[in-house]
Amino acid sequence: MPREFPAAVRRFIQAHGRAPVVLVDMDEVLCRWEEQFVASHRRLFPHLLIAEAGQRESFDLFAGLTTEEQQATATVLDEPGFFAGMLPVKGALAAVEEMLAAGVDVALCTSPWLSNATCASDKLRWVQRYLGPAMAEATVITRDKTRVRGDVLIDDKPFVTGQAQPEWDLVRFTYHYNRHLPGPRIDGWSDWQPVLSKILDMRTQRAEAAQIESPLPSLS
Ligand SMILES: [Mg+2]
Repeated sequence: MPREFPAAVRRFIQAHGRAPVVLVDMDEVLCRWEEQFVASHRRLFPHLLIAEAGQRESFDLFAGLTTEEQQATATVLDEPGFFAGMLPVKGALAAVEEMLAAGVDVALCTSPWLSNATCASDKLRWVQRYLGPAMAEATVITRDKTRVRGDVLIDDKPFVTGQAQPEWDLVRFTYHYNRHLPGPRIDGWSDWQPVLSKILDMRTQRAEAAQIESPLPSLS
């Protein structure tokens, strides 16, 4: 691991008095969701054509589909066990381990597919299997990620919205459907450290500036 990232984490800890919290999405960021979707779709509905993973223009799964295709999509997504069978994205598990080794407080933050009866438990089983029990303890399953506290959220969803004003900075994990949106972004897990270092340093500078502007009140 390049030394810049651990150094940025140390600077953050010094300025904030706590570790930086990095929230990591699961589907398409840690887990190869669309590959699982395409394989399940072809197994359950072999007569329906479906494109290879990675070509989807819209984040909306139902956009542009016929009624039959929409029903097939819903059936695939509701299949018990769907969310336990996904394979890890290349480099994702190592990246989480590297963040932890650098002193980051990593939490997974994922939205459940509510109509799939085993989705939430399958996601926890997936984390336990690939990242171990400690990360399963640090997994937040919510439909509204804006309510979750953190410094950074790494997500492939083009816009992450909800009921709260999020504290985190969004780092987009590049896919076809978000490639036209502005950064910060990471293109896969091969070169994530410079982007995260930059954001942590930005938040460190902001915290230092706030301390200068409003020093802690003294008793004297
Ligand atoms: Mg996702």
